[in-house]
Amino acid sequence: MGRGGAGGTPANEQTGEGEAAAPPAPLSMGGIEAIRFGADGLVPAVVQDRRTREVLMVGFMNRDMLAKTLETGEAWFWSRSRQEPWHKGATSGNYIRVREVRRNCEDNSLLLLTDPVGPVCHTGAQTCYYRTLDGQTLRPLPAAELGAGVGGEGDLTWLFEILRQPARREDSYVARLLTGGVDRIGKKIGEEAAEVIIAAKNRSPEELSWEMADLWFHSLVLLLDGGLTPADVYRVLSQRHREKTSHP
Ligand SMILES: [Zn+2]
Repeated sequence: MGRGGAGGTPANEQTGEGEAAAPPAPLSMGGIEAIRFGADGLVPAVVQDRRTREVLMVGFMNRDMLAKTLETGEAWFWSRSRQEPWHKGATSGNYIRVREVRRNCEDNSLLLLTDPVGPVCHTGAQTCYYRTLDGQTLRPLPAAELGAGVGGEGDLTWLFEILRQPARREDSYVARLLTGGVDRIGKKIGEEAAEVIIAAKNRSPEELSWEMADLWFHSLVLLLDGGLTPADVYRVLSQRHREKTSHP
């Protein structure tokens, strides 16, 4: 799956490449009254890169900072140490463009889906969470860990989400596979794996991508059957990569 291929898939819409430089659009104020600010008037705001899905930082917002963020499309926090508004990026130039704001189930925290203009952390790291709990610096830094694939074309989560929609499962091909369980899905995976090998032997890029798509598709169905998600697999891959690179 090459970059820019298969236009119009949900994954491509989510990556929004080329939009990062676009001026921020005002966001709706709807729902701001529902937020239950704490006794100190603040709620935590988790900042996520909407393209890589990486968690970048956590800040705190009061009602005014949330309103300002929605108005300007750039992240404004309340600085607890300085007890004053903090327009992220005002001194560093590393603004955070906010594309969507979500609230959690209890209306007491926020999630910001963002396009960061530069590194978010004052250390120059892409994310503030570049260390393990015991203080080891993650190398490569988390943003590079899985490449741009996460949340983009290389991330299979969007397809998985479609596969597990209940409506889709009534009397569909996926439903029949799931009814057949591991035996049926496993048989397909065996067949598709053989076809992938043949395609590779034939040195045919079209055939190989076609057959690999079949193999990945059925692998996702097997994950679904097993109660897993692609995230479980990404976690294993990421962990292996980290182990390899943290012991040079
Ligand atoms: Zn930081």
